[in-house]
Amino acid sequence: MSHHIIGQSRHQSTLFPEAIDDFVTEDNPIRVIDVFVDQLDLLALGFEAVNAKLTGRTGYHPSTMLKLYIYGYLNRIQSSRRLEKESHRNVELMWLLERLRPDFKTIANFRKDNGKGIKNVCRKFVELCRQLNMFDESVFVIDGCKFKAVNNKSKNYTPSKVQFHIDRVEKSIEKYLSQMDAKDGDEKDIDTTVSSSKLAWLEARLIELKALDEEVNEHPDKQVSQTDPDARLMKTPHMERQVCYNVQNAVDTKHHLIVEHDVSMTVDRGQLTVVAAQVQKTLGKKDITIIADKGYFSRNDIKATQDLGMTANVPQTDTSGSAKKGIFNKSLFKYDKNKDIYTCPAGEELPHRRNVTEDGLEQKVYVNHIACRDCTIRAKCTTLLKEPRKMKRWVHEEVIDAMQQRLDDNPDTPVLRKQTVEHPFGTIKMWMGATHFLMRSKKNGSIEMSLNVLADNLKRMMTIMGTTGLMEAISK
Ligand code: SF4
Repeated sequence: MSHHIIGQSRHQSTLFPEAIDDFVTEDNPIRVIDVFVDQLDLLALGFEAVNAKLTGRTGYHPSTMLKLYIYGYLNRIQSSRRLEKESHRNVELMWLLERLRPDFKTIANFRKDNGKGIKNVCRKFVELCRQLNMFDESVFVIDGCKFKAVNNKSKNYTPSKVQFHIDRVEKSIEKYLSQMDAKDGDEKDIDTTVSSSKLAWLEARLIELKALDEEVNEHPDKQVSQTDPDARLMKTPHMERQVCYNVQNAVDTKHHLIVEHDVSMTVDRGQLTVVAAQVQKTLGKKDITIIADKGYFSRNDIKATQDLGMTANVPQTDTSGSAKKGIFNKSLFKYDKNKDIYTCPAGEELPHRRNVTEDGLEQKVYVNHIACRDCTIRAKCTTLLKEPRKMKRWVHEEVIDAMQQRLDDNPDTPVLRKQTVEHPFGTIKMWMGATHFLMRSKKNGSIEMSLNVLADNLKRMMTIMGTTGLMEAISK
């Protein structure tokens, strides 16, 4: 006789039929989804078909569909076909959807047509976290991460790539033409039927490529993605290139909750103020601290965040090229705020002479012609034979100096930044799988990202408060 645990017979009838609720424990996360969605005003949040038409075919209530999607994104089931399948066999979904089984087309259309509502639900949950005092410390890390778009690299064209293909096709055409000339010269073993059909194909391809070349060069970003036109070729952390979206996230340093997110088509530089201002708006609070990596360093951006009442901490990179040229670095020149002069490594004073505007920044120029002319260490300071060494200082450089002082006083800032953002980005990437986005276009990518962010925040809050605690907080 077997000593293993024996299951119940599939054909056994029960006297008291079990309710589906018996299969769902009191602390099951699906109860949180149920409570959260039921207390939302879906009409005010912008969902379609909240009030059903009295005529025509009856449809599913948006709350049913929203519960299905939140469950899916919490459990790494993002595709509409898989969600349909799960609704037929998954007891948790049978409970959550009250045994409703929408087909995959209805599921897919709901996500596509309710982007505004889904984004607002994501914001609503952040608002709930704020009410529960999750963002008390008001320190946020802004970072960007590349997520692959539905566009293979071979379907993305830049001017150099199109030119490469044009050159290759032109060479092949030349080769086939010379083969056909050889045939005319009595070399009998060449099959001209093959050559002419290939030549016709190559000539058609050349016309296509020339049209593409025009399209690429006319594009403002000088690139064309053929499958998802919004996606862009970007550098990924391992210096590879992928056709991606650059997703911007603002994450709080205490609980690692994502306060704000944005699917962008550009690099990190220039995004700091946009995302930080959005965090202020979401929290209804001006006095916040923003940490970001050197990719966000932009003098205008840092000043703009300060003007909006924020404190920005962004390390600066040395882009002067002094080290490569083998000359004194700018850091060896000491600025005296009271006298408004620089003291150079030779101990000479460089006074302020004039102002210039470069790359949209008004800069003060400091120079001492006489000292540089007679300088004995000139070769270590400048590569120019007739010009003196000039120091340039942005008219608002004191903003950068104060920020550098804060960074020097808090050497752990880069570690805090890394620890804060890697967690949510890593989790979301793992959930999305190898292909990342499932839908084309920036608009649809934003919807997918909102669902991922909502799921990540929900999961974090369940860990922090427990499912029962979170349900109680939502119901208050
Ligand atoms: S070249 Fe001019 S700026 Fe440079 S060390 Fe000599 S005096 Fe100073």
